[in-house]
Amino acid sequence: MTNTLNDQSTVVTEQTQNLTSITVAHGDGIGPEIMKACLKILKAAGARIRIEEIEIGEKVYLNGNSSGIGNDAWNSLRKTKVFLKAPITTPQGGGFKSLNVTTRKVLGLYANIRPCVSYHPYIHTKHPIMDVVIVRENEEDLYAGIEHQQTDEVIQCLKLISKPGTEKIIRYAFEYARAYGRKKVTCFTKDNIMKMTDGLFHKTFNQIGEEYPDLEKEHWIVDIGAARLAETPEAFDVIVMPNLYGDILSDVAAQITGSVGLAGSANIGDGFAMFEAIHGSAPGIAGLNTANPSGLILAAVQMLVHIKQSDVAERIHNAWLRTIEDGIHTADIYKETISRKKVGTQEFADAVVDRLGSFPLKFATVSYANGDKHFDIQLSPTHEAVKELVGVDIFLHHKDRNPEHLAEILKGLESGGMELKMITNRGTKVWPNGFPETFCTDHWRCRFTRDSQQGVSYQVVIDLLQKVHHCKLAVIKTENLYLMDGKPAFTAAQGQ
Ligand code: NAD
Repeated sequence: MTNTLNDQSTVVTEQTQNLTSITVAHGDGIGPEIMKACLKILKAAGARIRIEEIEIGEKVYLNGNSSGIGNDAWNSLRKTKVFLKAPITTPQGGGFKSLNVTTRKVLGLYANIRPCVSYHPYIHTKHPIMDVVIVRENEEDLYAGIEHQQTDEVIQCLKLISKPGTEKIIRYAFEYARAYGRKKVTCFTKDNIMKMTDGLFHKTFNQIGEEYPDLEKEHWIVDIGAARLAETPEAFDVIVMPNLYGDILSDVAAQITGSVGLAGSANIGDGFAMFEAIHGSAPGIAGLNTANPSGLILAAVQMLVHIKQSDVAERIHNAWLRTIEDGIHTADIYKETISRKKVGTQEFADAVVDRLGSFPLKFATVSYANGDKHFDIQLSPTHEAVKELVGVDIFLHHKDRNPEHLAEILKGLESGGMELKMITNRGTKVWPNGFPETFCTDHWRCRFTRDSQQGVSYQVVIDLLQKVHHCKLAVIKTENLYLMDGKPAFTAAQGQ
């Protein structure tokens, strides 16, 4: 549905030319009320936009569409390429896939930019000096959504990190920092444990960082990094992270500015962009007119900059800052000692509208004079390594919890130059020389590797699997073991 005029929830402009089409979804829970507030402000500020409304989320899921978004909605997004989205509710259970993750991945929105700023002394926060931008990788990591129950006792979720995906987000973070006059880029990973996946992220950060000598660079293991972010956010500037850490820590960062309701985010790809608040649909306060619409308003400001309407973006952002300074606050940020008036969602929007054309008195006036920054991210060509098969990890569903019994059977199957090297349970070596104290589940990884420097053909692996199958052992899956350019492309076991 396309709206141009006179609907209360629709942006109106007298100009019919030079309108930018955008797709809008009102979402679930508090979504419709914060979107109404946001569109009211866009309209009053003179945003030159034409809105196409789409239905996504709970209703679509419950109508039997497991992705929560239908073909009409995709068609609109393909056409406008700009999406202003209110939060939606993903129904629990029933195999529904996250619409947010789907949209980000299908549209290639690889960079999620989440500015988290404190507004001291007008919004209560323990961190008066905080201006952190979290650049979250948006397509990969555990969000690939590839999960399998493999045995009665064990379920697996695949963590996928790609070289191009990592390079893209890290280059984006450095380009962003440089373009917006930031001083430092920090990277959080857990590469002391996930040496290969998070290791790739960290290594890429170090390599690409060398191309940005003007920027300070640092890396923290995510656990202590998160603790420092929560304690001394003023020590951080731009932080780039893999998907999961970025998801969690941007909520933490927004919350410690005063409320999770304050932060907006831009999801940027090469051809599309989506703008949304970082919070969810808050069903507990839906329909009460108490939700803070600021996250969505600030996301809409990011959208206006993106569609080259910096004048409107500035007008709204400055009026919003003035409203906050004037102590007009929604319940989540209201404090008797610093606020002047507690207002509902729509009244907050009205207060922003009343201040359009005003500027903050204490906060710095926002200027988007330099407009949108488009970064031309060039990826390095993929190096094709010399790949040599040297073994296989065979994963078994096996109820006998004694690894010695399993080893005895598997030793008898060695053939084709492959020998049983070790057995692990949940990644910990339990054979040979395992500890009897190690708790074992019904999920075993049995590593066979070549017994000489001879390469192994895949046929040898297939023959071995056939023997395992004939012994009535239940194979769940296999992972081939390779040397890439002569180096092992797999990790050792814990305790190996
Ligand atoms: P939530 O962000 O909706 O709520 C967390 C807490 O913050 C609640 O106490 C809520 O009342 C409060 N809160 C959130 N936004 C607020 C606002 N604007 N003003 C005042 N208070 C606010 O997180 P949740 O409860 O974990 O998730 C609820 C639903 O939202 C779930 O179905 C989840 O899947 C969905 N969700 C959607 C998105 C999205 O659409 N982008 C993101 C996260 C969660």
